Amino acid sequence: MPIYEYLCDDCGEHYERIVMNGNTKITCPKCASAKSTIQLSVFAAPSNGTKSSGGSSSGGSAPSSGGGCCGGSCGCN
Ligand SMILES: [Zn+2]
Repeated sequence: MPIYEYLCDDCGEHYERIVMNGNTKITCPKCASAKSTIQLSVFAAPSNGTKSSGGSSSGGSAPSSGGGCCGGSCGCN
């Protein structure tokens, strides 16, 4: 279940609430005001990480071909 962060519009209290559904009434624990601004948590934030920007990674972390010493030309094996 998601935990949302709220910022009270009246007293500025910052608090968190576990929201079961959209009909959950959120009130400030300090002044009991129903006016609050929701602060999107990091979990609810859209994925801004352009992870696939690298795309086709030529090479990468697999130095199997031409692997330094034991490539065959040094005769260590
Ligand atoms: Zn308040």
